[in-house]
Amino acid sequence: MEMLSAFKYRLYTKPEQEKRLDRSLFLLCNLYNNLKAEEIRRYREEHKSTSKTRFRRLALEARKEDGELQTAHSQVVQNVGDRIHRSFRNFFERRARFPRWKKPHRYNSLTYPQSGFKLSPEKGLYLSGIGDVRIFVHRPLLGKVKRLTIKREADGWYAIFITEREAPQRKPLSEIPTVRVRGADMGLTEFATFDDASSVKYPQFLRRSEDEIKHLQRHFSKKLKGSRRRHALGHRLARLHLHIRRQREDFQNKLVHRVFAENDVLVLEKLNVPGLLKNHSLAKSISDASWSSFARRAVFKSELFGKNVVFVDPWGTTQFCHWCLHWVPKDIATREHVCPNCGEEIPRDVNSALLIKRLGIQSRPPTDSGSSPAEQGPLPSLREMVSPSVEAGSPRIWSWEDVTSVLSGVYHALDGLSTPSRSMRGRSSVKAR
Ligand SMILES: [Zn+2]
Repeated sequence: MEMLSAFKYRLYTKPEQEKRLDRSLFLLCNLYNNLKAEEIRRYREEHKSTSKTRFRRLALEARKEDGELQTAHSQVVQNVGDRIHRSFRNFFERRARFPRWKKPHRYNSLTYPQSGFKLSPEKGLYLSGIGDVRIFVHRPLLGKVKRLTIKREADGWYAIFITEREAPQRKPLSEIPTVRVRGADMGLTEFATFDDASSVKYPQFLRRSEDEIKHLQRHFSKKLKGSRRRHALGHRLARLHLHIRRQREDFQNKLVHRVFAENDVLVLEKLNVPGLLKNHSLAKSISDASWSSFARRAVFKSELFGKNVVFVDPWGTTQFCHWCLHWVPKDIATREHVCPNCGEEIPRDVNSALLIKRLGIQSRPPTDSGSSPAEQGPLPSLREMVSPSVEAGSPRIWSWEDVTSVLSGVYHALDGLSTPSRSMRGRSSVKAR
């Protein structure tokens, strides 16, 4: 199977190259807005939406008429047609809001779809209309280059190559031993807790940067619009945002690498993303946001390494015992899981991670041809494993079975006979370093 990967390298532009790039972005931004205006007009007057081919043609016609736009490579101009077409498609198919009018400082990249550039060890990166740009290729470019995007960020220019290459073969899920399966629980206090009881903290440096951003943001919003101070602060904010983004990426990448160095399968809870918007706790929404970006990264990297990510339904993963599936309700303040039924006593997050792993393992079909998460069917859920009368987290009616099962748990604990001891259970997980 073919997969796409991105390789990003820093560019060292000369001042006049930078001027040309800035100018190109400005012109392309105008073109983008003009094409958008045309689409709106056409939709109003003719009740038709514009095809990609027509957008491309319009872009090229605009280039023919504008002498300055001709300095930009024809495919780069054509690509603006593709972009506006995509933003309208996304809007019509309800994946995005209505395309914005782009402001020049928000239009920060241009794309060479197939030609107009050449990477060579001696001359660096040749860009049509710009010249030979010095580039730092800090890691080898692998695969066949499909397109190149030049991007302006707060601290300079970057080249992003999208390449296509053969994906490594995935081992069928059914052939992976349980010790190579890792369940992870996301949390507020710890970034992640794994089923082997190891955990990862949300890095302190990220907390600090986030506090700094909040602080700067407050100052920024108090400054007069158009003032020089506001401008300077805006620049500082942009750089800080970039810095945080890179710190976060770095932290997540390292974690993903570590997990996949020791394991073949990572089991995660599927977060309900629209639900996140309703969340009023800022700390919670930040951690949820960074968790979903971690999950995306894990999925992406798993393809690169030939590993697997399995998602499970988060329903009830904090409220049941991982060992006997007994209902053990607890609020957020309860940090320990103590099961009255089997006597299990472990930290609450570890119990959740073990449950998540258990769900993940159960989801493995007997014959599996290395399915990717996208192909994963309905999420494995605790709902199917526990009695249907149980509703985690909600007040419930005690049935006779519940009462007897609790009582039998108490009796067992009292004789201390039928409670399985820790050592007898033979944990399937091995403590990973
Ligand atoms: Zn139990």
